[in-house]
Amino acid sequence: MLRQIAEIGADPTAGISRVGFSKDERDAHELVGGWLRNLGLAISVDPIGNTMAVRRGAAENKPAIAFGSHLDSVVHGGKFDGIVGVVAMVEVMTLLAEGRAATEHPLKGMIFACEEGARFGEPCIGSKAIAGMLTEADLTRIRDAEGITLEQAMSGIGLNPLQLADVRWNRDDLAAFLEVHIEQGRILEGESRPIGLVDVVSGSTRLRMTVAGRAGHTGGTPMQHRADALAAAAEITLAVEALANGPTYRGTRATVGVLDVYPNRITTIPGRVDMRLDVRDFDSDRLRRAAREIADRARIIADRRGVAIDAEVIADTSPVVLSMWLRQALSQVCGELGIDWRFMPSGAGHDAQIMASIAPAAIIFVPSKDGASHVPEEWTSVADIAKGADVLYQAILRIDDVLAAS
Ligand SMILES: [Zn+2]
Repeated sequence: MLRQIAEIGADPTAGISRVGFSKDERDAHELVGGWLRNLGLAISVDPIGNTMAVRRGAAENKPAIAFGSHLDSVVHGGKFDGIVGVVAMVEVMTLLAEGRAATEHPLKGMIFACEEGARFGEPCIGSKAIAGMLTEADLTRIRDAEGITLEQAMSGIGLNPLQLADVRWNRDDLAAFLEVHIEQGRILEGESRPIGLVDVVSGSTRLRMTVAGRAGHTGGTPMQHRADALAAAAEITLAVEALANGPTYRGTRATVGVLDVYPNRITTIPGRVDMRLDVRDFDSDRLRRAAREIADRARIIADRRGVAIDAEVIADTSPVVLSMWLRQALSQVCGELGIDWRFMPSGAGHDAQIMASIAPAAIIFVPSKDGASHVPEEWTSVADIAKGADVLYQAILRIDDVLAAS
């Protein structure tokens, strides 16, 4: 399965480039949707491209237990991020089809559209629409680097963004959501543990800062007459790193990921730099405090250097504590299967954290080799993926029992 999915969007330069709302992403959904259809499941695709496979429950009118992940990747990404959770979902549906085990609750296999924020800056588009966290205004506001809006991207591949309202789920229809995902860090590998049960997912605050200095001739402008936007941006970048390394913000992660330099010419002093940075934390107060302090420090640096600065929050997501009872059910399942596990936080965002806004949600981590992710080297062993799928399968049966009894 992994190999077949990896053939779609394979990038001739490196890795997989199967970005959100591309034809490749749709092709991957169709491929996996076909496998699920062959298992006798009812497949549907909602107006913005989330694919769902429903297995009916024995009882009428019960809310669904949903599980799955995403099939889009970053540019030059790997073969496992998201894919592993979809493959685990297909495995569970296959086991259920073979064993014909009936569950009380309907089961919903999910493939979310456009989880990666790499293209549009905004992650988890598909799950946000389901959770009612994506507005019609977002469809025209959110653009990729080429200026293509979400609405245009969706329409361009045959989706129907104007029916966004129909995508939203009623929270009474969902009992729980579970996602198997690669860890994207090296904790599990370092401890030789096959399973991590996520307790909290980092929040993230993203800032755009524009530093405006004065462009000029690199030969003709004496050093003391300069207002070099890049030198200021560089000092701000180091200040961001220093802040996150300081004792007050231990555990906070702050990264300047984008520096667009204008005019970006070897003989012109940089006149303007557009910076984008990402702050992550498990503590929502500290997260926002760090973002404010970064903007304050940047202003002080800009003033001292005689450049102007404009800072703006472009995205802000709170940390999410995942369901305690699902975590406990999962830890019991791991114990019974004799699988070594630990609780751990997730530094990266996932669809499950969005689904947590409408139902109890859980994330089951499997190890990432060398912690590599969003790169072609991303790798997780088939044995570890199988353990993740096994835990998912047993957990779904357990959750079904617990909910049916309550
Ligand atoms: Zn992912």
